Amino acid sequence: MFNGVFVDDTEGEKRYAKLLAENSAGMLALEFRQPGHEVTELAELLIDGHFDFVALDFRLDEVPIRDAEGQKQKNKYRASALAQQIRDRAIESSNNDVPLILLSQENIIQEIFHADSTAEDLFDLVVSKQELVKGDTLKLAATRISSLAAAYKIIKDYLVKNKTIDLAVLLGLDSHETELVLNHQALRSIDKIRFPHQIISKLMSLLVQRPGILLTDDDLLARLAISPDSPNINQLKAKLDMLGFGYSGVLHDGWPRWWWHRVEVWAKDSLGASLGSLVGTERANRLAKVLELELKPAMSKWSRSSDEFFWVACASCDHPTELKHSVSGYDTSYQPFLEPSRICWFCVQTGAYQKRGLEIEDSDSSLAEKIKNGQIQP
Ligand SMILES: [Zn+2]
Repeated sequence: MFNGVFVDDTEGEKRYAKLLAENSAGMLALEFRQPGHEVTELAELLIDGHFDFVALDFRLDEVPIRDAEGQKQKNKYRASALAQQIRDRAIESSNNDVPLILLSQENIIQEIFHADSTAEDLFDLVVSKQELVKGDTLKLAATRISSLAAAYKIIKDYLVKNKTIDLAVLLGLDSHETELVLNHQALRSIDKIRFPHQIISKLMSLLVQRPGILLTDDDLLARLAISPDSPNINQLKAKLDMLGFGYSGVLHDGWPRWWWHRVEVWAKDSLGASLGSLVGTERANRLAKVLELELKPAMSKWSRSSDEFFWVACASCDHPTELKHSVSGYDTSYQPFLEPSRICWFCVQTGAYQKRGLEIEDSDSSLAEKIKNGQIQP
């Protein structure tokens, strides 16, 4: 079990700490605190509490908490200032490092927190209070918090024993795969980092949150050209997991992923051709035969055909998408081993990608304009 703390200026909000603990299948215990100290003092107390994770409401300054004389307001700071103090202490000793979770109202997260990229970088996970009142998102939040707490613990223990981390070990890669999968400059540099929160941040941005070396379920279905509403999706995943393609390294329980290099090699051997060389119908047929499952091929949202070369999940609608009928998404943190972000023409036409906060890359903007004004039609 992981012991954490939730800090919020409003007493009634401690119900969120209770909700998380009660829905974590015994993985989380949370205590509640109000910010009744100056920021440096509170950071000190939270570090000295040796918690496995710290969750903070963003606006810690809305309900004034005054000193003993009732004069001076103690909590004149927001979560970002407190988080910065906690991160500073982690730099003094990596053993003080702790997962930081922002737990706040959805509108505050969207309007204030996301507008401040410095504040964004301080937190491992952002959860809205609205997510904690719905069963599935509440369970997901609890799982992700415990997954982060476990990852920090593994990394801290490793650093105590070895001084530096070994990425291949953290990810659970076999030694013969390491050279093939991890030999990229941005990944090699992770082994030199000595602070857990910086290691986690790199793992998130280079491996977990971006398709490339690891794939989400949606990315995997796109590579296999299987429709998300195909029968036997769960059996398909179970069989692929049995074959050893599921990612089992740090953070896997909060962010389930697949090893692309393993799927790629297996598919080439089993289907008699590389996945990318087969159109969707052929890919799904051969997979169905090999895995002895009934599977439905993906269908292009643009051409309405399954005979397309599906490759990526659209960054906007998550549906299997072919490169031919998609544009490049604007991406500030591209690396050669990451799959460039794509937005399907259907989502360009409907404008749905804008609601997901996505932008089209400049080089594809005139193409996108033609789709939007009807010059290019399905
Ligand atoms: Zn789409």
